[in-house]
Amino acid sequence: MNTTDQDQEDIAKRLKRMLLCPRCMIELKIVLHEDIEVDTCLTCNGIWVDIIEEKMLLNRLSENYFEH
Ligand SMILES: [Zn+2]
Repeated sequence: MNTTDQDQEDIAKRLKRMLLCPRCMIELKIVLHEDIEVDTCLTCNGIWVDIIEEKMLLNRLSENYFEH
């Protein structure tokens, strides 16, 4: 399956939306950490990694879900 430019654009748009700290609602600063772009909030020191973190977050959410 080819990844089209369109797909990449969609991903970029999604990531752009993630670039605000969910807590502080301010722009995150992108820091390169071991070849992974990490979005860091300088206000609450929250670290928000792109898709990888997003998946981990989803896993964590489903784990929590099944705890109930
Ligand atoms: Zn923050």
